[in-house]
Amino acid sequence: MKYYSLRHQSPPVDFRTATVTGQAPDGGLYFPEAIPRFPGGLLRELRSLSRSTVALNVMRPYVGAAIADSDLQRICAEAVDFDFPLVSVGPEVSALELFHGPTLAFKDVGARFMSRCLGYFAQHGDTPPVTVLVATSGDTGGAVASGFLGVPGVEVVILYPSGKVSPVQEQQLTTLGQNITALEVSGTFDDCQALVKRAFQDPELARRRFLTSANSINVARWLPQQLYYCFAWQQWPAQAPAPVVSVPSGNFGNLCAGLLAQASGLPLGHFIAACNANEPVPAYLRTGTFTPRAAIPTFSNAMDVGNPSNFARIMELFDNDLGRLRTALSADTVSDADTVAAIRTAWEEHGYLLDPHGAVAYTALRRYQAQHPAAPGLILATAHPVKFPNVIELVLGRTIPLPAAVQHLQDRPKRSVPLAVDYEQLKAYLM
Ligand SMILES: *Cc1c(COP(=O)(O)O)cnc(C)c1O
Repeated sequence: MKYYSLRHQSPPVDFRTATVTGQAPDGGLYFPEAIPRFPGGLLRELRSLSRSTVALNVMRPYVGAAIADSDLQRICAEAVDFDFPLVSVGPEVSALELFHGPTLAFKDVGARFMSRCLGYFAQHGDTPPVTVLVATSGDTGGAVASGFLGVPGVEVVILYPSGKVSPVQEQQLTTLGQNITALEVSGTFDDCQALVKRAFQDPELARRRFLTSANSINVARWLPQQLYYCFAWQQWPAQAPAPVVSVPSGNFGNLCAGLLAQASGLPLGHFIAACNANEPVPAYLRTGTFTPRAAIPTFSNAMDVGNPSNFARIMELFDNDLGRLRTALSADTVSDADTVAAIRTAWEEHGYLLDPHGAVAYTALRRYQAQHPAAPGLILATAHPVKFPNVIELVLGRTIPLPAAVQHLQDRPKRSVPLAVDYEQLKAYLM
């Protein structure tokens, strides 16, 4: 499989180069030259296959000859090595829980897959040691830290805004050690991101260190997200109509992966892009004009993205045809007040505790179902509610206990390197 740049100003590359470099030299996102069809046998047998077999079959055409089959098999098995249960939230809604991985959020699968690919490339062939540089508002950093821990040939540097991530999120960033360094920036997430962006554009730094990014711009983090939709389908009742799928969206990697799985033949119904107050995509579907904005802080903070990178990939998937896109995809905007109301309703009526991101998806789905009554719905529950204690306390009047998966982090000492919002200081550190 070759990947071309969406800006068409640099040559196509294979999976290895796309993964190691992250973004094309012309600044474009990489996109696969062909959308592979899932083999008919795979779809027929899907319900009886193991998750790792599904993962291998879905990912193999995208990876091509870049990774030996037995290694890819191991990488796939390790990437999906936890549960993805489909649970009911009332009679018309099912939630696919994507938060049973090590950092309790859905980014674990992509981060684990990508880290193992980079580790493989560091050990096979002439890839130089790589530094993964990433800014986080919370979940990305934890998933990347956990996914890359101990991977040889890869060093990880994470910038996070001091005092602006939740306690569990901070523990996930700062207690692992080894090849993971957390830079605690006395600024906002936007400051962290601006520092990282500048580092990627610094030619002097590039001569010193091979930098790559680990957000969903990277094909090795983006493409494995298709697997969630396959896992949902494995558990979907055989005779039931295809589900309407509501995806809580920020940078739009997850939703784009779902549309890709559908284009490959997975029988899913209509898609809903469920957004918080950051709504350039809903506005685009309404008006036909795409206007990036500064991010607005909300309760569903992992979706506070004002200029979603992966939307360009969605447009490519639909040949930049807005009319076609509108038939496949709706979009909705959910306020913080409605997010809290949805957490309360789902809890009181169905005994199910949503996190703020899942609650945005739930609200958008229920509104769609009010217009389309016969449609059974699927939401992606992308994070464990325990990661958002303030919002949960607002609804329940109490906090909920930490799951065992993160409890062990409690007793480990925090290690972070303080950093001012000063590019020269970051550069000095990296040099
Ligand atoms: C990252 C994230 C999202 C948004 O996913 P995108 O692929 O960026 O649209 C939603 N929910 C949670 C919990 C996340 O961490």
